[in-house]
Amino acid sequence: MTNERFLELVSECFAALEDNAVSLPGEKKPLQVLDTPLTGFAAAEDPIFEQFRDPEIIGPEFRLPTDYMSGAKSVVAFFFPFTEEVRSRVCKEEEPSSPTWNAAYGGNFKLVDEFLDALVSRLTEEGIAVFQPNRDPGMVRVQVPVSGGEDVHYSVSWSNRHAIYAAGLGTFGMHRHIITEKGCCGTTASFITDVELRPTERKYSDVYEWCLRCGECSARCPGGAIPPDGLRNLKKCSAHGGAVRETYGGFCGKCLTKIPCEGCAPAKARSN
Ligand code: SF4
Ligand code: SF4
Repeated sequence: MTNERFLELVSECFAALEDNAVSLPGEKKPLQVLDTPLTGFAAAEDPIFEQFRDPEIIGPEFRLPTDYMSGAKSVVAFFFPFTEEVRSRVCKEEEPSSPTWNAAYGGNFKLVDEFLDALVSRLTEEGIAVFQPNRDPGMVRVQVPVSGGEDVHYSVSWSNRHAIYAAGLGTFGMHRHIITEKGCCGTTASFITDVELRPTERKYSDVYEWCLRCGECSARCPGGAIPPDGLRNLKKCSAHGGAVRETYGGFCGKCLTKIPCEGCAPAKARSN
């Protein structure tokens, strides 16, 4: 299969999603949730996957594509941006838990699964095998205390964000989300397949290359989880997110909107 044919299948499966809209209380017109995904490809044997086993990156629990699937040829990664309409609504909602964000973010997992099911089914019809590590019941996630217990790191058997980095779609930001050409405000997916696809060029050499280091995500974080000149503290973020869930029944996610990298990769644009 060519990359072009693969991308056609992605477009068809995305366009066929039935529930890519949410209705908000008191509003007649539903909001479209996700835009067509950016799709990138990496070779399954790319040495970058071995590097992810470094405890400073992911850790020893990380499994290589070929550990999951003998005969693996490619890793496919997706970034689905939230629509401009969703993002602009979230920017205006100053509540600790934005109603639009709760509806859009809360519903995105089901949507992405629906998309993956459709795409995997089309690939299977063409005799192509797929393995989805994130939907594997054997997924491993080990919490490791760091900074003397002030923060935590997760050593995991697979990571969509790292698959996206490997597949040329973007770099990390200070908020630890991935920044793509369509920004950071989106959701992710990835899988391993036995079909050979042309790898997407990684147009960066540094893990944080597309981040401006502007500190605006830090200023936006109500939980004090992102230092102005450093990376998101996952322990503090989780504590704040847990409190928001308990008190309001929703999600925080403020560090994904009202910032320069919300819908584009500003540092990349600046270097062009
Ligand atoms: S808001 Fe600024 S510092 Fe934070 S991730 Fe985006 S570009 Fe980087
Ligand atoms: S999710 Fe909320 S608490 Fe966590 S870093 Fe983002 S803004 Fe801060």
